[in-house]
Amino acid sequence: MKRFLRNIKGLLLIDLLKGMYLAFSYMFKKSVTIDYPYEKGTLSPRFRGEHALRRYDNGEERCIACKLCEAICPAKAITIEAEERADGSRRTTVYDIDMTKCIYCGLCQEACPVDAIVEGPNFEFATETHEELIYNKDKLLANGDRWEKELAAKLEADYKYR
Ligand code: SF4
Ligand code: SF4
Repeated sequence: MKRFLRNIKGLLLIDLLKGMYLAFSYMFKKSVTIDYPYEKGTLSPRFRGEHALRRYDNGEERCIACKLCEAICPAKAITIEAEERADGSRRTTVYDIDMTKCIYCGLCQEACPVDAIVEGPNFEFATETHEELIYNKDKLLANGDRWEKELAAKLEADYKYR
């Protein structure tokens, strides 16, 4: 009897019709996929993307060259050299991150006492060569200038939990 019913089901294409009904029913529902790269999904404020060095509103670099980020980096991806300026402030002369070593753990951001180094929302920074992923201070500061609004909002959203 079981076999007979199975054969009838097959003959009437019941499973195929069920599948088609399901497919058609989803045609009228809101799409759950997005058309990347033209559309992008929302990111958590804790998303850890491309690094950036931030400045204060007056344009001065936030980084005070304390090297805590360099010390804490488990991948040893950060290289900093520093010297004292004529006004007595301490600033970096070299701030490099080897993005191919970085594991995006976020510890550099956590360690920074002045919110200078931050992992921003940008995840679209694939390159064709290794050299392009060795970021220097100019590149990191340029990232900071470009993403400052988003970086400030991200830190603001997360400050209660830090
Ligand atoms: S995210 Fe982690 S691995 Fe990458 S530079 Fe910062 S501390 Fe190092
Ligand atoms: S980015 Fe922050 S933690 Fe790293 S050297 Fe500068 S001030 Fe210190």
